[in-house]
Amino acid sequence: MVVAPVEGEEYRMGRYTGPQCHLCRYLNEKLMLKGERCSSPKCPIEKKNASSRGRFQGRAPKISDRGLQLRAKQKVRFSYGMLERQFRRFFSEAARADGNTGSNLRILLERRLDNVVYRLGFGDSRAQARQITNHNHIMVNGRRVNIPSFLVKSGDVITWSPSSKKTELYKTVVEKVKAVTIPGWLSLDEEKMEGAVLALPAEGDFMAEYDMASIIEYYSR
Ligand code: SF4
Repeated sequence: MVVAPVEGEEYRMGRYTGPQCHLCRYLNEKLMLKGERCSSPKCPIEKKNASSRGRFQGRAPKISDRGLQLRAKQKVRFSYGMLERQFRRFFSEAARADGNTGSNLRILLERRLDNVVYRLGFGDSRAQARQITNHNHIMVNGRRVNIPSFLVKSGDVITWSPSSKKTELYKTVVEKVKAVTIPGWLSLDEEKMEGAVLALPAEGDFMAEYDMASIIEYYSR
């Protein structure tokens, strides 16, 4: 049985510290939270699917509308590695801004510095990208920024700090970054390992499909 990652459990210093795979198993969906392992047969969801293939699964338990809305919200929140409090703040900001709340929220989430570090291929998961950011490896427009929730804007330049370029981690990333597909709203100079924000993300720039309408419903009650 999978224990639901309930708010207040397995959190330390404001961050979920339980196994990442529990979050996927809780939602029964691959959230791709662990980099390379997620695309390998070691992924517990893959193992579960492989072992149950061809077997009678029985009737799935019915989930209420409220439950479906909660799952839609948790899927996005877990994917971006955020606490409920932070996520709620992002939602409020998205709702206050002009335009569609769902699109506004997606754009805000993508603009997070830890996400940008991930999308540039500097970390192979958002969790690793957050750690890289926290550990002072990243500079925005020439200044160190170690706040994962920092929001980038069009024209910003993201680089590694000069001292970080001497680390083994950096050497590994330089090799891995060649295989990464950079979204259209970002660019990467692989020689300099310098990323740039060309524009705000648009529809089609996101990595996964999310049910934003259900999230809006969830917070509307
Ligand atoms: Fe989720 Fe990745 Fe773990 Fe699979 S390996 S359950 S996709 S975090």
